[in-house]
Amino acid sequence: MIGGDMGHTSAVIAVIKKVQSIAEQGVEYTSYSGAICPICGLKTKIITTKPWDDGARVRYHKCLNDLCVLRHLNMQIKSVEMIQIKQQ
Ligand SMILES: [Zn+2]
Repeated sequence: MIGGDMGHTSAVIAVIKKVQSIAEQGVEYTSYSGAICPICGLKTKIITTKPWDDGARVRYHKCLNDLCVLRHLNMQIKSVEMIQIKQQ
């Protein structure tokens, strides 16, 4: 127990859970821009690249922005790349 301000603590936990759900929900990965951090909007660094599976490929990223809450929480961001069907 740090401090004793329960209201403040639960509010912080709620924000962390929200941020975590956004990171786990994932973002779209594109070959020209990579994966953009859903919190701060900057390009992220690829940590893990999974093999193609049924037309989709999952990657995990880290945000390198010193001001970003995802970096401070050391959370990975999921991204999904879908196979693009060329029209021409
Ligand atoms: Zn970020």
